[in-house]
Amino acid sequence: MQHFLERWSNLSPFSSDCKIYHVSIEEASPLRPSNADATTRQKASPFKTSYLNAISIVIGVIIIGLSVALVFHLLATWSENHEPERKSDHFHDQFLELGCNWTASHHLRELTREPHVAGTGENFVTAEYVHSVFEKYGLPAHYVDYNVLLSYPVHRSLSLDLPNGSTIEFSLQEAAFDGDPYSKNKKVIPSFLAYSPSGNVSAEVVYANYGREKDFDKLKEIGIEVKGAIVIARYGGIYRGDVVLNSAKAGAVATIIYSDPEEYAANGTQGFYPDSQWLPPSGLQRGSIYEGIGDPLTPGWPSTARAERLPVSDPAAQLPKIPALPISAQDAKSILLALGGPQVPYEWQGSLDLPSYRIGRGPGKLHLSYTENQTVLPIRDVFAVIKGSEEPDRYVILGNHRDAWTFGAVDPNSGTASLLELSQRLSKLLKCGWRPRRTIVLCNWDAEEYGLIGSTEWVEENADLLGARAVAYVNVDCAVAGPGFFASATPQLDSLLKEVTKKVNDPDAAKATIYDSWIAASADTSPIIDRLGGGGSDYAAFIQHAGVPAIDFGFGGDYPVYHSLYDNYNWMEKFGDPLFHRHVAISSVWGLVALHLADDDVLPFDYLNYAHELQKYMKTVEAELRTANAPNYVAVEPLDSAIAQLLDAANDISFEKEVALCKTEPKKECAFHGPQKKRSLNDRLMLAERAFLDSDGLPGRSWYKHLVYGPTRNDNYGTTAFPGILDSIANVGGGSAQKWAIVQHEIWRVARVIKRVAVALQGDLT
Ligand SMILES: [Zn+2]
Repeated sequence: MQHFLERWSNLSPFSSDCKIYHVSIEEASPLRPSNADATTRQKASPFKTSYLNAISIVIGVIIIGLSVALVFHLLATWSENHEPERKSDHFHDQFLELGCNWTASHHLRELTREPHVAGTGENFVTAEYVHSVFEKYGLPAHYVDYNVLLSYPVHRSLSLDLPNGSTIEFSLQEAAFDGDPYSKNKKVIPSFLAYSPSGNVSAEVVYANYGREKDFDKLKEIGIEVKGAIVIARYGGIYRGDVVLNSAKAGAVATIIYSDPEEYAANGTQGFYPDSQWLPPSGLQRGSIYEGIGDPLTPGWPSTARAERLPVSDPAAQLPKIPALPISAQDAKSILLALGGPQVPYEWQGSLDLPSYRIGRGPGKLHLSYTENQTVLPIRDVFAVIKGSEEPDRYVILGNHRDAWTFGAVDPNSGTASLLELSQRLSKLLKCGWRPRRTIVLCNWDAEEYGLIGSTEWVEENADLLGARAVAYVNVDCAVAGPGFFASATPQLDSLLKEVTKKVNDPDAAKATIYDSWIAASADTSPIIDRLGGGGSDYAAFIQHAGVPAIDFGFGGDYPVYHSLYDNYNWMEKFGDPLFHRHVAISSVWGLVALHLADDDVLPFDYLNYAHELQKYMKTVEAELRTANAPNYVAVEPLDSAIAQLLDAANDISFEKEVALCKTEPKKECAFHGPQKKRSLNDRLMLAERAFLDSDGLPGRSWYKHLVYGPTRNDNYGTTAFPGILDSIANVGGGSAQKWAIVQHEIWRVARVIKRVAVALQGDLT
């Protein structure tokens, strides 16, 4: 990639050159020319007689009087409704033109020089780097530190006794390659699963497919005893922590999880990294298996230096109970080869080259030994704040995490590089005279990989101010892992996301916008926008705990070297984004979404879309009830009528928005939408999401306050809506009247928060 780097080598990522665009009064005012014309005509009057002079003076006075009145009226109406938008539109266009792929590649290379796991010195160096870049761009920056429970591997070993009496000792090492200097770095953290307890076990092995609840049900059905065994499962179905949890519930003494080629390496002739993008046979996936969110020892409150801390043994810490390790496909193959027992169901077969997949248990016997170092250490979030000029107490928050399991070229520093590239553009706009109407906060989180810790602690510490003032949170974790745009959002932000992607070109398709390609990849007439019910990244605390509308997006989605040694700059430069155009495109979408949220006169929120989305979830509930043979007295009607009330309120407020923006009759009405009235309208749009929160939260999981979006019980990554209702249906079992009463109660609870959203949008006390 030397050629393109050389071409841009004369540019510095810290250069301040910009195409200055001044909105001059002459240019901006449609009134000036006619005013000037009138003066010119008066000066040129040929009439000299006093009579004519008297008439012309009278007419002149009337004309001047009318003109002045008209000018004042038009000026008032125009400046009220148009000037701020027109100015910010110019700056928004300018923002799109300022993208620089050299800047993105430079920052990514700097951020990923060394592996930087949370709590290590190397990750503090990356915090200083981000801070220094913000400051060099002229953006005021600061740190916020927390002291949190982290987990590191001290010792691990795994060996397999074969039926023939021999033993295989697994190295648990990922291979180093000459084609990849990063793979030879000795500071890379050994393979481990964070928060796995220490343990030393020897047992027969059971293969449990993806380790989902239904996989363990299947094992029971087949008659395989899991109690006392070591479970081997493959990645790809659910959150890895839930694989370990489900294994422990089934009585297993340890869990090992591997990366099956079916998910992580293409079948056929493409080979593996460094020859292709695919995970090598020795590659494996690190990760956390913690079941909670935020610091385990301070659930629900910030882990500041002198905070109350739970003992590690407290069940509220939600730490895993049995030891677990990630292993490679080549090691998994050796272990599965040593299994007898019945053949696996057809759909349980992966792509390992085995004569037949068997469930076990035995005859091979596995010895697993693991020692963990669990310790409270400081972590460091980095912030830059651009104060709003008119509404400094309204926050548009952009966030990305910085800590990585290894080098983090995709996860998460493609996002950090995009954040810094975006910051450079904002700093240039500031130099050109732009100021956001509302405050923009740029956040760079720490310890996301351990359990979304840096963002969660900050949200917990700032809960009240965020509740009163946060407009929206826009998250980018893995910005780029390949081509193909993907996005999730709370539904009132769908239309903003669509409009913005219509303005940014797709770096992988000539003459197409991101929106064009996004919609082409969907089987529907609108693009696929997922929801934010799962716990996959730093948006979780914002939406699920604080009720802040949120968006998350990127290019490429799942990628083969995820959380492995090979998630490094070399992989990114060869396969992920060789020209760094995708990074620039993400910065463009990210920044433009933020600019609209920060600058638009009326917040671009669409609650009609939210109501329609809730109607779909209601249909899902109806279907689930039918499948579970719910008795007739279990009614979804409360949901139906609550959504109808929300639809009415959403209709009213969308009409009000149109009026405020002068897009609808009666046009004169918009003149009455002064700053106060717009602020009140915006406050209702901003606060409505908060009304989905319930102080009791999801059943048994009170930290999750949002009753529409949260993880379901059996998959922390799942993104189903109405988790409380769906979990209660899943728990109904034999279907006692008592259990169905719980289902009905959960339906009522969700219906009540939807009605509260309707009242919040209406904005009048009942
Ligand atoms: Zn990440």
